[in-house]
Amino acid sequence: MLDAIRWDSDLIRRYDLAGPRYTSYPTAVQFHSQVGTFDLFHALRDSRKALRPLSLYVHVPFCANICYYCACNKVITKDRGRALPYLQRLEQEIQLIACHLDPAQKVEQLHFGGGTPTFLSHDELRQLMAHLRKHFNLLEDDSGDYGIEIDPREADWSTMGLLRELGFNRVSIGLQDLDPAVQRAVNRLQSLEETRAVIDAARTLQFRSINIDLIYGLPKQTPENFARTVEEVISLQPDRLSVFNYAHLPERFMPQRRINGNELPEPAQKLEMLERTIEQLTAAGYRYIGMDHFALPDDELAIAQEEQTLQRNFQGYTTHGHCDLIGLGVSAISQIGDLYCQNSSDLNEYQNTLAAAQLATSRGLVCNADDRLRRAVIQQLICNFSLEFAEIEQQFNIDFQGYFGALWPQLQGMASDGLIALDRERIAVLPAGRLLVRSVCMVFDAYLEQQNRQRFSRVI
Ligand code: SF4
Repeated sequence: MLDAIRWDSDLIRRYDLAGPRYTSYPTAVQFHSQVGTFDLFHALRDSRKALRPLSLYVHVPFCANICYYCACNKVITKDRGRALPYLQRLEQEIQLIACHLDPAQKVEQLHFGGGTPTFLSHDELRQLMAHLRKHFNLLEDDSGDYGIEIDPREADWSTMGLLRELGFNRVSIGLQDLDPAVQRAVNRLQSLEETRAVIDAARTLQFRSINIDLIYGLPKQTPENFARTVEEVISLQPDRLSVFNYAHLPERFMPQRRINGNELPEPAQKLEMLERTIEQLTAAGYRYIGMDHFALPDDELAIAQEEQTLQRNFQGYTTHGHCDLIGLGVSAISQIGDLYCQNSSDLNEYQNTLAAAQLATSRGLVCNADDRLRRAVIQQLICNFSLEFAEIEQQFNIDFQGYFGALWPQLQGMASDGLIALDRERIAVLPAGRLLVRSVCMVFDAYLEQQNRQRFSRVI
């Protein structure tokens, strides 16, 4: 079993740098406009030839209300009619992509994210799933991981029943904080009863896995009131928990300008919140998976980590990293072999491009040999907290220490600080370094020095 994480305030203060979350390497910041539809067709052809299994991501950008902390790509509207023209274009995109793939390619993973996927009416959800089933090989035996993000304010028992009937078997529930003062400060009023009703429905309907998202660092949060939220959430017994650090970047994200900066907790309070949360979750039997994620020991993610098969992609930690990821919808990102590509993030541009029967790819990146090597190194570290040099040497035909020799002084510094154990054969991220694993990954990131780190949130 993996060792638990160890809290070390001194190390956290020293290594808590702004950095990427490494849902990809290179990160989306490196995407450029020279990558387009031609590259996508090329990658789809390779995927079809290799008959690689698929993971589909479908982005539904609409929300009825704005949460002030939000940094997602979304459109705030009460006009449910906005969904129809979007869905027409989305269906066109599904068709255009699917005709380049082989019907034998199984969809092992499906995820609806947003925005708020349940902004769509029941009929719209039915039609969208029917269209996906018509064009992709969706598994009919409930063996795929088919998940959807749920806003409990936009879903009830009948919605959950419909989703189960349509083939979804995982839910991810946005909760963030239960304290009414915090909820008012971020404009997200959501009662415990609403959340509990959705969870009860998911359990009764035999959804396989329930994830809850929390955020610490929001206005009006204190270590005490956040600890109460965590306590309530533990009593709901989700299989997985994501505990995100709120990054206040009002110059980049408009809605955050409505948050009163004077109401934000101090950095020391945020650290205390995280420390207490980890204590509470660990005491309740949750395992730290890495990068804000916790899971019960019998959850697939915890098992995959134990078996060193865990991977990471744009959907976070996953057991489906071997699949080609097809992103559908405005701003959606695909990862197909060595290609990363992203659709336009502008709703009108996305819709207009598809209206002209063109795919809306706007930027991306084709990995070179160095990207592939560093991607494998970062994946190993962030998923398994360890890296065997021999495996990388064999896979990429290099001498590890020769290739990364310039990084050794930095790694040795981390080793003497107790973040990692380093010898001639491996790096092991020590319990005190696990919360800071992305600081270790950042050593191997060839692009970081050129980038503006302001774009990233801090590690903790
Ligand atoms: S946090 Fe979620 S529900 Fe709230 S505005 Fe953003 S995407 Fe919509």
